[in-house]
Formats: sequence, structure tokens, C-alpha cells
Amino acid sequence: MTFTTRFAPSPTGPLHLGHAYSTLLAYDMAQAAAGTFLLRIEDIDQTRCKPRWEQQIYDDLEWLGIHWSGPVMRQSDRLPAYISALNTLWQCGLLYPCNCSRRDIAAAASAPQEGSTPPLGPDGLIYPGTCRHNHNRLGPLPQNTALRLDMQAAARPLSFHETGSGPEGQTGQITITPGNLTHNIGDIVLSRRDFPGSYHLSVVLDDASQNITHVIRGQDLFEATKIHVLLQNLLGLPTPSYHHHALIRDNTGKRLAKRDDARAIAKYRTDGCSPNDIRVMVGL
Ligand code: GLU
Repeated sequence: MTFTTRFAPSPTGPLHLGHAYSTLLAYDMAQAAAGTFLLRIEDIDQTRCKPRWEQQIYDDLEWLGIHWSGPVMRQSDRLPAYISALNTLWQCGLLYPCNCSRRDIAAAASAPQEGSTPPLGPDGLIYPGTCRHNHNRLGPLPQNTALRLDMQAAARPLSFHETGSGPEGQTGQITITPGNLTHNIGDIVLSRRDFPGSYHLSVVLDDASQNITHVIRGQDLFEATKIHVLLQNLLGLPTPSYHHHALIRDNTGKRLAKRDDARAIAKYRTDGCSPNDIRVMVGL
């Protein structure tokens, strides 16, 4: 069986111990399976991505002893693939334009149950559906607007194979019901106003284009995987096997963030740590 995995960081800040764990785990699993390890730079957020962070990713990975095969894929080079998939979904009547601001969504999401907490999905507040029926879905793909997936139309029963575990210990064959998708995820953004794509769309198309057979990443993306499996199904792409791993946390139990410079790999590097010290710190 072939084994191809990848590390897919966004160059929006320094890689920290959590990234070190994720990439070393994926690299070790690829080595153990005599498989392939690829690198992809997820740079669709042009306002937050910076060349210096991309360079630091290469430097950190090389220092950790990680070697990737072939050329690095960069999402900013992949616009034609994203636009083509958006056209496919648009022509199936599964997308609709939406110009709601975060504030509009927060107001609409809390309106029906004033005072109670509106439900959260993988992308924050679950979209309350304000624009779902506002626009006909004929003609060419709309430009200069966000596009959302009509989850009620798209949802279907699905499943994927989990070799790690979800945040509640979910493992093995994971079932996704239409109700999961409509109630816990909702109409997610597949194309942003400023970029023809979104994290969910790009990651699915890029994993397929890089022939990824095993996705190894943090448990924080377990719910997002349900969206990715749905998009693979809608676009006729294969579903890889998924391995979600536990997150590295700080002393207070909070997961590490990019602004948490104290745990940046580069900081440990300049403080004289060895790559093996990092392996020990993350429990490998
Ligand atoms: N670019 C994502 C991140 O830095 C990773 C997405 C993935 O591994 O699928 O969190």
C-alpha cells in the first residue's frame, strides 16, 4: 500500500512545539511505511502570510532533520484548480453568494434565542442561513462575493477511517450523518470575497492533487475533516485515511498559538537545544 503524507503549515508566524510534533510524527510515520513526505505552504491568506515566515518554516524543518520530496506546493499558485472546483459546485446549485459580515452573523445567530449562546461549528458561529434563498443560482459563478455551501442540499451520509483519535476518543470508522453536517457545521464559506477559495476547499483539492493517502494533523481539525470528506465526495475525489493527534499544550492546558513566541522552534534553536531535545519535549 502506498503511503503519502504531508505537512501543510501557513506562513503566518513562527512554527511552535505543536507544529514540531505534527511534522515529526508525520515524517516518522512516512519513514516507517517507506512512504513519501511532502510539504505544502498554505498561503491563501495574503494579508497574514509573510515571506520571512515561509523562509523560517524551511529553516526550522531542515534543522529538525525533515526532508520533503519534490517541489513544495504553494496554494497561491493553485487558483485555477480552486476556480474550476467552485464552478463545478456552482453548476450543481450547491453554492450561494453571501455578503454577511461577522457582526451580521453574530446578530442573526443569537436572535432566535436572545441571551443564550449561539451554536459554534469548526469555523466559529454556525451560519444562520440569512442569504441562503436570496439569490438565484443561475448564470456564471458570481465574483467579488463570498460563496457558501448550501449544506441542506449537499449533506449526505458519509464516513472516514481514523487511525488516531478525535477529541472525544473517536477512532476507527467514523460515521458522518447529514444531521451532523447541517446542525453542527452548517453553510461554510468555500470562496472568500478576496480569494477564490477557502481553507476547506483548498486543502481538499491540494491533498488530492498531491495524491495524499494519509492526512496526519491535530485533533483541532477533527470536525473540519467531516467537511473535507463531504467535499471529496461532491467533487469525486478519493478520501485519504486520517490520523488526528493530541495537541501540545502549555503549562495551563491551553493549546499553543503562533503568537506564543516562547515556544517557537526558532527560539529553542537559538537557545542551543538540539532537534532531539525537541523530540523529547513533544513526547516522541
Ligand atoms: N494550514 C493548516 C494549519 O496550519 C493545516 C491544515 C491541515 O493540516 O490540513 O493549521
